Amino acid sequence: MGDAPRSTPPKPLPQPEPLALPYWDSLKERAMRLQRCRGCERFVFYPRAVCPHCGGRDLAWQRVSGRGRLHSFCIPHRNPNPAFQPDLPYVVALVELDEGVRLLTNLVDVEPDPAKLMSLIDKAVEVVYDPVSNDVTLPRFRPA
Ligand SMILES: [Zn+2]
Repeated sequence: MGDAPRSTPPKPLPQPEPLALPYWDSLKERAMRLQRCRGCERFVFYPRAVCPHCGGRDLAWQRVSGRGRLHSFCIPHRNPNPAFQPDLPYVVALVELDEGVRLLTNLVDVEPDPAKLMSLIDKAVEVVYDPVSNDVTLPRFRPA
């Protein structure tokens, strides 16, 4: 017998903690919700118990637009985790949502070409919901 066929191992997935479950649920529902502080009215990301702006503890979940702008990007050509090998190179993006928070994510539907991506800096992007398992949907973004 020859070598067994190589299969790609599964990617590591987020392990949602209880505080962040409304966020992960909102992604599954394709209707992103983020925390908003009732004290200073600013949005908060990542999910947490205390507002990083004013120290308030009254954070409520609110539906957000899923729209923003590309703030920054990088293009990994290597990843020590073999699960990501088939995707290389891909685009890691820092997206600033219209609600004023920044999210580390992937940019999709674009070539991993630095010149093309540079031309997208500060341009509009919109969320794409990517169900990667039964429990986890990831928010990725594409040019709007
Ligand atoms: Zn606050």
